[in-house]
Formats: sequence, C-alpha cells, structure tokens
Amino acid sequence: MEKEKQSPRSIAEEERTAPGIPPLVDTHCHVHADDYGAETPAVVARAVQAGVVRMLVIGSDIRTSRLAVEAAEQFASSGVFAAVGIHPHEAATEPSCSVEGKGIPEALRELSSHPRVAAIGETGLDYHYDHSPREQQRNSFREHIRFSAETGKPLVVHGRESYDDLRRILREARGERIRAVVHCFSGTEEDARDFLEMGYFLSFGGPLTFPKNDALRALFRELPEEHILLETDSPWLTPHPFRGKRNEPMHVGLVYEKAAEIRGVPFASFAAAMEANAARLFGWGTERTMGDRTS
Ligand SMILES: [Zn+2]
Ligand SMILES: [Zn+2]
Repeated sequence: MEKEKQSPRSIAEEERTAPGIPPLVDTHCHVHADDYGAETPAVVARAVQAGVVRMLVIGSDIRTSRLAVEAAEQFASSGVFAAVGIHPHEAATEPSCSVEGKGIPEALRELSSHPRVAAIGETGLDYHYDHSPREQQRNSFREHIRFSAETGKPLVVHGRESYDDLRRILREARGERIRAVVHCFSGTEEDARDFLEMGYFLSFGGPLTFPKNDALRALFRELPEEHILLETDSPWLTPHPFRGKRNEPMHVGLVYEKAAEIRGVPFASFAAAMEANAARLFGWGTERTMGDRTS
C-alpha cells in the first residue's frame, strides 16, 4: 500500500477515481487463490476502488477453474465472473480433452453450468512455449470450441505464435456459430481482419502501453470500436510504468488511458463503449451492484 501512495498518478487517473467516473471492465485476469493467495480479497477491493465494475477471472485447468468459480461466488457483489477451461499449456495434463473424441472432462462440465460462469476458456494454442504437444493442444482447442457451442457461452482464446492454426481451426468450426474473444491479441493486420470477419472480439492489455509496441498501437487504432475489449491478464503483463511488478486488475485503467489516447477519443465515451462490448459478449448486463464504489 505504501508504494501505491507514493506512485505518481496521472490527471486522468484522478478524474477516474472521482465520483461519477466511467466504470471499467477487466475482461481477463487470474485473480484467484492460486495466484494471489490470502491477498485475493485486497486485490479485488483495490480494483473496485479504482473503478473496476466487472472482472472475468479465468481458469487454466480444472483446479484453477474451480478457484475462478469460487472467486466469482465470493466476490459476486464486486462484479466478478468466471471462465472455465483448459489452457493450451495444460492440454497434455488433462488427457480427457486432448485425445480427440473423449470430450470435455466431467468436472469442467459441472463447473460450466454455474450461473456466474460467463465464458469457456482460456483455451487455444501456444507454440511459443509448447508446454503440451501441438496435436494435443489442437484437439483440446477443438473440444473447447464444441463445448462453447453446446453451452452457448463465449470462448476465451489464447494464442502465441500460433495464429495461422487458430484461424484455420476456427474457420473449420464456423458451423458451430460460436462467439469468441482472442485475448491479448498479438497478431498481424491480416490476423485481425480474419478474426473480425468471423465476428470475434480482439482484447488488448499491458502490451499496448509498452514503449516499443508502435506496430500494435498502429493496428489497434484502426480497429472497429465494437469489436474491442480491454484486459490486464493479471498477474502478468503489467502495464507501463509498473512493468516488472505483479499485475492487478486495478491497473486496467492504464490500459484504458492508453487505448483512448491512441484512438484520440474521450476517455468516458470509450470506457462506456468497452463496458457495452463486454456486456454484449459475456451477457452480464451493466447494472451496478450495491457497494461497488464505496471504500
Ligand atoms: Zn492467455
Ligand atoms: Zn490468461
């Protein structure tokens, strides 16, 4: 807490934390007991204090999906929802969905029916780390696409150095008519065009603020507003100038500031558009829960 008090605050940040400030949404964070332990309630409280009214807490395997659902229950009055799924890193450790035809694990099915589960994921393909064999990642991804179609809940997609395969597999599955967000988008203009053409959202976080990411900012500037989401991916990808420290949803405002600045639009109207986009995809409405904004 000491460090926060000492850190410089921008004018926009002062405005945001004043009464009547636009509500913020963090569409992708891992705020559960595995990553924050006993600090989780304080992390959620700091986010609320910073104007965050919705947080989507993401599961990466069955255990953390359960923790995400628990967080969504515990912090329901703070606008926390959950996504449940198997991250491509874990595809090999959950063989029941990485072997074609075996389907989604029963435990995940049960979790997905919880009323505070707003999405399926994160799933996808990570060819940068290759923690699981690529074929198993692809099988798991296909199972999640089918599961998203079956549950009607949108898909949270993770990709790294794998966008060609992501696009190909999503195109093959177009008959499933799923809704999806490609989180922490890091692809090319052609990738972006293809995902938009399929009707999906692209989500952006801390990398938008990193000094050397001019190409990403140039791409971001041209995207249609109604297909953008913003996120932190906490505890990772901390926005500038706090890069290198653990990330928290309270920092999502830094992503919003940079995003509005890049696009040359007023902060408040941009924030309202982002809130509407998230509500449209995740179906969680925009009503305020009592006590959200009190300290
Ligand atoms: Zn991810
Ligand atoms: Zn994530």
